[in-house]
Amino acid sequence: ALVAAATTSGKREIEYPRKADGKPKYPSEIYGENVFTLKTMAKALPKPIFASFLKQRRGRQNLDKTTADSIAHAVRVWAMDRGATHYTHWFQPQTGTTAEKHDAFLSLLSNFTPGGEEVTPIDLFSGSQLLQSEPDASSFPSGGMRSTFEARGYTIWDTSSSMYVQRGPNGTSILYIPSVFISYNGDALDEKTGLLRSTEVLSRAACELVNLLEPEAHVGHVHTTLGTEQEFFLVDRAMYALRQDLKITGRTLVGQLPPRHQQLEDHYFGRIPSRVMRAISELELECLRLGIPIKTRHNEVAPAQFEVAPIFEEASVAVDHNLLTMDVLHKVAHRHNLRVLYHEKPFKGVNGSGKHCNWAIATDRGENLLDPTVRPETNYRFILFLLAVLRALQEHAPLLRLSISSSSNEHRLGAQEAPPGIISAFLGDQLNEVLDAIEEDRPLKNFSVPQFQSIKVGGTVLDVKVAGLPHIARDLTDRNRTSPFAFTGNKFEFRAVGSKQSPSFPVAVLNCAVTAAVREIADALREQMGSKPRLSDEDKLTVIRKYITLTKPVRFEGDNYSAEWVTEAERRGLPNIRSAPEAFAYLLKEKHMTMLTRTTGIFSEGELRSRYHILNERYAKDIIIEAETLKTIVGQQILPAAFEYRKSLAESAAALKTVAVDCDPEVEILEQLAPLVATLQKEYRVLVDVTAHIVADGESGEANAHAQAAYDQLVPVIARVRDAADELEATVADKYWPLPKYTELLLTI
Ligand code: ADP
Ligand code: MG
Repeated sequence: ALVAAATTSGKREIEYPRKADGKPKYPSEIYGENVFTLKTMAKALPKPIFASFLKQRRGRQNLDKTTADSIAHAVRVWAMDRGATHYTHWFQPQTGTTAEKHDAFLSLLSNFTPGGEEVTPIDLFSGSQLLQSEPDASSFPSGGMRSTFEARGYTIWDTSSSMYVQRGPNGTSILYIPSVFISYNGDALDEKTGLLRSTEVLSRAACELVNLLEPEAHVGHVHTTLGTEQEFFLVDRAMYALRQDLKITGRTLVGQLPPRHQQLEDHYFGRIPSRVMRAISELELECLRLGIPIKTRHNEVAPAQFEVAPIFEEASVAVDHNLLTMDVLHKVAHRHNLRVLYHEKPFKGVNGSGKHCNWAIATDRGENLLDPTVRPETNYRFILFLLAVLRALQEHAPLLRLSISSSSNEHRLGAQEAPPGIISAFLGDQLNEVLDAIEEDRPLKNFSVPQFQSIKVGGTVLDVKVAGLPHIARDLTDRNRTSPFAFTGNKFEFRAVGSKQSPSFPVAVLNCAVTAAVREIADALREQMGSKPRLSDEDKLTVIRKYITLTKPVRFEGDNYSAEWVTEAERRGLPNIRSAPEAFAYLLKEKHMTMLTRTTGIFSEGELRSRYHILNERYAKDIIIEAETLKTIVGQQILPAAFEYRKSLAESAAALKTVAVDCDPEVEILEQLAPLVATLQKEYRVLVDVTAHIVADGESGEANAHAQAAYDQLVPVIARVRDAADELEATVADKYWPLPKYTELLLTI
């Protein structure tokens, strides 16, 4: 289309920070510059105050007024020295994004003197302002948790995540206070509260199991570790601005694949385009300052698709950092005249984006409980934790499936690029052998033969050593890119999580399910132990064998995208949940609800019902918004363009005729266009009718039924309208096409 001329430039370069002597600063020197870290706090506070804060942070005492006031004062001075004029509680409502409301430090002191009122401006930030704030937050989704007359929601400082300053307008900055968001009655209204609760219960259960296995271990705390690989697309901002569908829904609702897209497999790990490189490097610098340890950056599979990933951290901090990275990237991209797309499937026909969640659990002594160590076959603690994860998957796969379900992520699941709706785990050859050997009570097949430990660069046929290339150690697990839940060395990788969504709920659900499984295994061990003072290896092996056999059905090493797996999974009795609305219904099913409420106590029934409502409502709204947007695009842009093109063809045919020139070529194209236009118009009319019908239904119906109706009735119509529009795109002259095409969107940066 003509809009190619709209490409914006992107030449922005920033100065990399330097030391006083002009040499560049090392990244480690910039790291955390904008964070009010514990170290900064320790320097800024009187010793006893800092000590009392640490106690509170470990849950041992409540934060008293003096401590809160002192911290508030210290952080205000620190932040104001960095340009802060405002502060905000930063929280994660169930909208999938973050929320903030800024308040100025500025206050007025009134002094009444005989001469009249005297007003003095001062900068003020009190302990109570730091601890809690009551944003007028009645417009966040609460799924019926709050009626408007008692719409109070409170944001409360989450002391486990550090405060930071971020650049504000015109050289000022803003102090951010990571917070949870709860109702007047203490119900979670956000994503974070559940995650924090879940890490706490998992910690208790895991400590219990570790201390049962090794009574002298005295492990006091176990934390969940998380590393999020964030995928995204970057497109030119001017192109983006011309696409209503991208602006409104985050994905293209129409558009044909260009002749070259990802089939040459040349984009993946290719050279990062220089404009993107400049943007990502600026992102990394800002992240450094915010203490976010971004480690890798690379091109992804689809054109214009990229990934950044940090070093893993404690889960709730990792989630804060992931959401903050997304926010910073959004702003940075803007400065480079780019637009970041976090939608899971912005373009039909090329890969979508995910957020692989690398997850493990570690003790307060820094030991990763999922580390197989050198001899996993005798590391019973590792095996029991591994089995607990498998057991969790087996019992609560539908919950994991629902935790990643949204209208947007549906486009990737099972579509040859992301794991399907069947949740299974991949362990790799070595661990499978370990489990099989234990189960069959036989010696382990020898894994210490050289080719299992190193990769011969010279090849297997010619055992030659290529000069200059060292033999390298081979990873314990090979990769299976098709598994939704893969063991990768010393952690599990939950791959089905969507690029757009917060990892909070998926990780919270995983933590809960693992908690229940860890407890179940601990109970089995206790029963095995009976009245003996401690567990023998034989006791442990008995329980291990039992759980290896029990959890076998959730282990799958093959191709998760194959049709045979669907049949095989059915034979094994694994649920295959095909749609988001179908998944949502599981949240209220007895077994899962009981686990999330009574067994682990992480959510209340009310909180789950509200989440159920929000998920369903959001799904239906998303689909309706897509339908309405498509209606506008087809009715106001595409059909008119086709009419105009036809008119020009008809006019030239008529003109040619008057001068007795052959007009068959024009007529031929007109004839080709006629049925395409007719089909699009017909489908468009269906779209209008079905949308109206679904919108009307939503006024009265039950939330899940409404979401299901949107899925059953509207989703297929949206797809049919698209097909018809895409056929037209291939025929209408480029000059008349009103939207930037995939070639322009994907191959321009
Ligand atoms: P890939 O899976 O692409 O090979 P890596 O192995 O480097 O990439 O790891 C991907 C992510 O997993 C990184 O964010 C990394 O920090 C994280 N990770 C590594 N170890 C752990 C762990 N024990 N717990 C949680 N995340 C981890
Ligand atoms: Mg990975």
